[in-house]
Amino acid sequence: MTEQYFYPNIWGRGILTSAEEILGEKGLNALLNLVGLSEYIGNYPPDNIQKVFPFEHVAKLQQGLYDMYGAKGARVFAMRGGEQTFTHSLDKYNKVQKAGRAAMALGSSELRAKLGLQFFSKFFNAVSDQIVRIAEDDNYYYWIIERCPMCWERHSEEPVCHLGIGVLRAAAKWATDKNFRIQEINCTAMGDKACVYAMDKQPLD
Ligand SMILES: [Zn+2]
Repeated sequence: MTEQYFYPNIWGRGILTSAEEILGEKGLNALLNLVGLSEYIGNYPPDNIQKVFPFEHVAKLQQGLYDMYGAKGARVFAMRGGEQTFTHSLDKYNKVQKAGRAAMALGSSELRAKLGLQFFSKFFNAVSDQIVRIAEDDNYYYWIIERCPMCWERHSEEPVCHLGIGVLRAAAKWATDKNFRIQEINCTAMGDKACVYAMDKQPLD
């Protein structure tokens, strides 16, 4: 199977460096060996925005965390990795950060959360091959990933795209300075059409 969809290097790198911080170098090397990605041992993707980190590799790293640490461990690691990757890439895409801040300068947290999600969905669609759209109802905003790297070619009985929760939490916090409850309610790995996250419109704090 040839690789056809990609994340920017910087996100692949962020997944690896945050995993190393949590698991240690030995733990990460074990993970990379387990999932057949030993090419990255001591050799992370460069810190640039070139779009060449394959979806297959994102999915294998998530699967490896699950295999090594179980559902709960994988969830914790992936959420932290998502937050770190998001925060680091804002530094890298500095112009994006400034444009985003300007767009969200005014309004309630609910409105800023919405503008933030809209803004970052466009950002994801522009810099990676992930496809995201936003929807909402009375209680929730929905982040709908129609082409998802985290569960690419995976199968599961429960939602597995925890990395996305970390990214969304960090994005919502960045846009509003508040915390929101976010859950993955549909997952392509479970046979659903898309990976869907529901974010409460009301912040937790
Ligand atoms: Zn997914």
